[in-house]
Amino acid sequence: MHDVIVIGAGLAGLRCAVLLAARRLDVVVLEAGDAVGGRQRTDTVDGFRLDRGFQVLNPAYPALRRSVDLGALALGSFPVGVRVRTTHGMAELRHPVRHPLSVATSLRSGLVSGRDAVALARWATPALLRPLSRLARNDVTMREGWDAAGLRGPLRTAVLEPFLAGVLAESHGETSNAFARLLVRYFALGRPGLPAQGIAAVPEQLAAHARTAGADIRLGARAERVSVLGQGMCVDVTDGDSVRASRVVVAVDPDAVTDLTGLDRPATNGLQTWWFAAAEPPTVSALLTVDGRGRGRGPVVNTVVMTHTVPSYAPAGSHLIAATCLLPRGGDPAEENDVRRHLAEIWGADVSAWELIRRDDVVDALPAQPAPLSAPRSPRYAERLYVAGDHRDTASIQGALASGERAARAVLTDEGRSSPR
Ligand SMILES: Cc1cc2nc3c(=O)[nH]c(=O)nc-3n(C[C@H](O)[C@H](O)[C@H](O)COP(=O)(O)OP(=O)(O)OC[C@H]3O[C@@H](n4cnc5c(N)ncnc54)[C@H](O)[C@@H]3O)c2cc1C
Repeated sequence: MHDVIVIGAGLAGLRCAVLLAARRLDVVVLEAGDAVGGRQRTDTVDGFRLDRGFQVLNPAYPALRRSVDLGALALGSFPVGVRVRTTHGMAELRHPVRHPLSVATSLRSGLVSGRDAVALARWATPALLRPLSRLARNDVTMREGWDAAGLRGPLRTAVLEPFLAGVLAESHGETSNAFARLLVRYFALGRPGLPAQGIAAVPEQLAAHARTAGADIRLGARAERVSVLGQGMCVDVTDGDSVRASRVVVAVDPDAVTDLTGLDRPATNGLQTWWFAAAEPPTVSALLTVDGRGRGRGPVVNTVVMTHTVPSYAPAGSHLIAATCLLPRGGDPAEENDVRRHLAEIWGADVSAWELIRRDDVVDALPAQPAPLSAPRSPRYAERLYVAGDHRDTASIQGALASGERAARAVLTDEGRSSPR
């Protein structure tokens, strides 16, 4: 019998396994997929590196800094700012949230009024100064938070709304104001980027740490059922032998957690990424670009030339362009014609020669994070049974890693071992 079975080799499960194995516990990780990573996978297609949905890594996440060697990831960093397609052309905002007040002076685009800049500062500054517990007090939706701050002009409608729609995977402003401000804090503190080898380099590094510490990671091992057996736990594996251990940590995605634990299914938001190859990039800028011409324009919420930031994402002589759309549950996914039409408008370029390499529809990309923001949920679910994953914390890489750490601490405490920081 093992000490601990961790189900799921995404960030949460891997981080948990690293910490448990480092304390000399006998750990088995069961992963249904053919590789580790969960929502952080990268495939090589015709020489292009395609993450399974465009995402970025913010080196300011505290749990990330504790968990991985960032230097070894060889991060390419996106410039801090955003480009905005307006009815007059393309505007560039260099530090829309990092230095809210500097935007007003540096900008000649007409997107930022003095009143908006002050309102943005009023909304964002507490995020830089206060702990999350204070931010979460009397939490409202982001929409209500902006209204209360007096943020109503184009800085909101043409910049922040389209920019955050892609980050939060929803465009109605229903997300918790405290969570949105927390993300703004991380954007202010860190410069998001991507590992040269793709986003999968993060879980791969964690898996290497876990194996070095002695964890046994089994791929293609789908846990079917978790049950109590005598003084321990038993996990039935599809087409495989069941595995027994003293304790089980369920670190699966929102879609799978109900079947294994009986927990309610966490609400999620979806994202769709279109990956295009182009011989010539539509711009020399590496900034993320959004359409600021108002609601009703779509379906693309953001687009970026990946290869200006991470050249290793394409073979020599080619460029990789990502375009992200929302994927509402039950809604129709965007169609290629619409995406191409919208990209041509945003970039002001002929995109007809771009080759579509792949489209990634990720229905459960991020757990919804409605107001009021709930405190991280306890990892202890039943005796000897623990739950981890971003849906137990915040909808992010930070949330997934922190939740894995919390589960590890709970296991170690219950095992009578002192837990790590
Ligand atoms: C398109 C997209 C964009 C994103 N953008 C960002 C971003 O910019 N910034 C950010 O911070 N976060 C972003 N995220 C979120 C981030 O990727 C996730 O929060 C994080 O990876 C979740 O990790 P996890 O371990 O909680 O879950 P997962 O990665 O979902 O891992 C769960 C694992 O459990 C396995 N599993 C499921 N059922 C079973 C079973 N029965 N038996 C065994 N194994 C099982 C799955 O195969 C999977 O490997 C994005 C996500 C997506 C999809």
